[in-house]
Amino acid sequence: MIDFGFSFSPSSRINLDKADKEKFLSLAALEPDVLKCMACGSCSASCTAGAFEDTSVRKAILSLQNGLSDDAVKLLNHCMLCGKCTMVCPRGINTRHLILSIQKIYGK
Ligand code: SF4
Ligand code: SF4
Repeated sequence: MIDFGFSFSPSSRINLDKADKEKFLSLAALEPDVLKCMACGSCSASCTAGAFEDTSVRKAILSLQNGLSDDAVKLLNHCMLCGKCTMVCPRGINTRHLILSIQKIYGK
């Protein structure tokens, strides 16, 4: 095979038909506001823990929607519950409360 000096990245495609949505629906029943998230990233940009660790409410919500709950829990492991993300969310989502509900439903 000809060496072009680059390689293809592995596919990050997610088959949403096979994603386990059951827990996300439980979360949405408890925290309906999670469905209002427009993935703007304001929460992640203002995150206190995000300056030091891979912490992101935006990415966590997207992971949960895609059935990647382990990834979501890891993304919130270093959250200090400071509430800054709640103050900046343009959709008025109480992200701090949402994080506690995620830990309650998805925590092991
Ligand atoms: S700030 Fe609010 S709307 Fe924006 S990504 Fe975070 S949770 Fe979603
Ligand atoms: S509550 Fe957690 S996720 Fe939100 S800004 Fe504070 S450390 Fe970041």
